[in-house]
Amino acid sequence: MLFDEVALYYEKLESISSRLEMIDVLAELFGKASKEEIKLLVYMTQGLLGPPFDSIETGIAEKYAQLSVEMATGHNHSEIINLYHKSGDMGLVAEEFRKNTKLKRMEHTSHTVNDIYEKLIKISETSGPGSQDAKIKLLSFLISSSSPLGARYIMRLVLGELRLGVGDATILEALSKNATGDRKLKPKLEDAYNICSDLGNVAYVLATKGIPGIEHLGVILFSPIRPALAERLPTAEEILERTGGTCSVESKYDGMRVQAHFNKESKKVRLFSRNLEVITEMFPDIAKALLEDTNCDKCILEGEALAYDDISGTFYPFQETVQRKRKYGVEEASKRLPVVLFAFDLLYCDGESYLSHTYSERRKKLSEVVGKGSVIKLSEMITTSSPKELERYFTSAIERGLEGIVAKDPRAPYIAGARKFSWIKMKRSYKSELSDSIDLVIIGYYFGKGQRAELGFGGLLAAVYNQKRDMFETITKIGTGFTEEQMKMFKSLLDKIHLKKKPARVDSLLEPDFWVEPKYIITVNADEITRSPMHTCGMNHSGKEESGYALRFPRIISDGIRKDKGPEETTTTEEIIEMFSQQKKTKI
Ligand code: ATP
Repeated sequence: MLFDEVALYYEKLESISSRLEMIDVLAELFGKASKEEIKLLVYMTQGLLGPPFDSIETGIAEKYAQLSVEMATGHNHSEIINLYHKSGDMGLVAEEFRKNTKLKRMEHTSHTVNDIYEKLIKISETSGPGSQDAKIKLLSFLISSSSPLGARYIMRLVLGELRLGVGDATILEALSKNATGDRKLKPKLEDAYNICSDLGNVAYVLATKGIPGIEHLGVILFSPIRPALAERLPTAEEILERTGGTCSVESKYDGMRVQAHFNKESKKVRLFSRNLEVITEMFPDIAKALLEDTNCDKCILEGEALAYDDISGTFYPFQETVQRKRKYGVEEASKRLPVVLFAFDLLYCDGESYLSHTYSERRKKLSEVVGKGSVIKLSEMITTSSPKELERYFTSAIERGLEGIVAKDPRAPYIAGARKFSWIKMKRSYKSELSDSIDLVIIGYYFGKGQRAELGFGGLLAAVYNQKRDMFETITKIGTGFTEEQMKMFKSLLDKIHLKKKPARVDSLLEPDFWVEPKYIITVNADEITRSPMHTCGMNHSGKEESGYALRFPRIISDGIRKDKGPEETTTTEEIIEMFSQQKKTKI
């Protein structure tokens, strides 16, 4: 398949404002690709060059992109900069100057998807002395030998700014539609995706092995499994009711979630964060301890990493763990403040997947695997049928500076990528008037008035994710409580991702001054959740007039952007509705 054809589809996708239409266009595109190409096309459509956890980057910054356009088209630096300042999009700059090149027009080569992919990989692999020049030359060749529209998307891919607004769920539905004619295969594809976190691989397995291949897709060591998530409940009684009368209760550590994969034979360790980025380099002690202090050869286990002082029994919260690393560097910080991995689950061990085993079985295996070392410890746990004992355990966890507890249903399997009642969290905040903090994705921002006009920033429009609809629904505007530094930071980050029109997967009755790509996550506290006709979160979509949900007095509590979550991992509409009903119960 030719990349020029893909570029036409991408152009079409950009102009679409309905998600269903997007699925149709994508399904048609996937239908034209060969079995090998479909994998690459999926990555490209995600704006990537491989699965996200491989973090393949071209290493081309804006400045080098400008130089490539100069070299490819003969236009000079100031022409390029002027147009770039006007459009804010190097893709459009490459397209425009490719159209009006000042150089002898190079033969337009019909690059295939494979060609382009290989060249982009070559750019990413070029390193060492002189590599910047080599990268610029390679990119310049691609621009000058592509069609103008092709140049637009090559440039955006290279810079990691494709921004088609296509989410994982949309791609899964399009793959289903392409394979079967409708969207019904999505749940099965999603299960496979939850196990390997690699949409390209899911597409490839579907294309080469069909539905049986998807049904039998197993755990792949060093491909992260999408993490199981916890529901919330406010009382011990409700937790026990949900877990069949008995549950295991673990301390909720306020650290950084780590999914550890290791193979002792090859001495390979890979640590993944909650949003599946590779963070092995952040925790060298943990990587070493996994190879030295565990009782198995190949394993995937999960735990919470945080700085812990063994002597005083002090747990240091996540922010502090990270800040210390920043201040002293990884090595120095690990001496001053040792990080411990409190292991709480085991997903795979020595050739066997444990995903479908019950929590009790997984925990038993985990306790055999975790040795006696001081870096990897088992998370604290009790099993109880008594609400009083559960309450006491919760109170003692809070008194020791922990975040609360996570109760686990002993009979439940590990449910990858989903928030279910097999894990239930109870935090200190649920016990007061305030409900839990909420993670939101920024979808737009406002100009400032008065003093803020100078900063060009007046506030944010934020949304939650509706999983069923695969849409972002607005829940609040945030106009107060920003420091000047924060305003500057938001303005500069958001300016880079601003869009000319509302993205197809955003549902909003409000119109901010600027729409932005749903990308950045913030954490907010609010006084309460209220009903509101202004916001689309939880609005009845059956056509019947009904109010949505909104936040009262929202205020940002993160110092900036929450980096361990992506836009589809914000608090969901379903959770907001659940929190609203829990809030009503506590008020009675
Ligand atoms: P939060 O901000 O409350 O951590 P979250 O959306 O990141 O929420 P949840 O699934 O709601 O994640 O809560 C579970 C999280 O709690 C896990 O992702 C993990 O990082 C953390 N955690 C700490 N201790 C445990 C434990 N013993 N068992 C499971 N998760 C734990």
